[in-house]
Amino acid sequence: MKNTGYIFDIKKYSVNDGQGIRTTVFFKGCPLNCWWCHNPESQHTEPEEIDNCLFRWNLTYDPTQRNKIGSQVTVAEVMKEIEKDLPFYEESNGGATFSGGEPMLQIDFLQSLLAECKRKDIHTAIDTTGYAPISDFEKIYDYTDIFLYDLKLMDDKIHFEYCGVSNKLIHENLINLSSRGDKII
Ligand code: SF4
Repeated sequence: MKNTGYIFDIKKYSVNDGQGIRTTVFFKGCPLNCWWCHNPESQHTEPEEIDNCLFRWNLTYDPTQRNKIGSQVTVAEVMKEIEKDLPFYEESNGGATFSGGEPMLQIDFLQSLLAECKRKDIHTAIDTTGYAPISDFEKIYDYTDIFLYDLKLMDDKIHFEYCGVSNKLIHENLINLSSRGDKII
């Protein structure tokens, strides 16, 4: 468990990151480097300066300056944002989704957030590349209601070429998760 971590956005009324209406928290940092990355500002683990980055949570946009993307936040700060939309989760069977980047890259912070959500009876989803040690899946398995598992390419060589890493670990983790239950999309 860890009380602080780095995120770069929080998206409200998210309807494509799991069931119902959700709040999606985007973690900073990703071990992959996909050619098509839709969130390239997520890839570095630390906050960074970037041009033309609008509509990000907690970002004061100043067109005359380069803007910092990413902030260090506490579990309480993130939970405060998640809990603002509790009525929407209750009406739609929604909840909180942790995405990125790769949320499992900050496994102890992720575990703390998931545990806090479960303590408050909020449905949890992880949007993951699956590229993490199997022991990290053990840390969060009991707190995660659904894994949104982004298996990008089946062929290992092609995966390496387009995503920057082998997919062997991703396959192994998926096989292991599948053998334990059905909470995978
Ligand atoms: S896994 Fe997602 S965030 Fe990471 S590099 Fe690929 S597309 Fe970008």
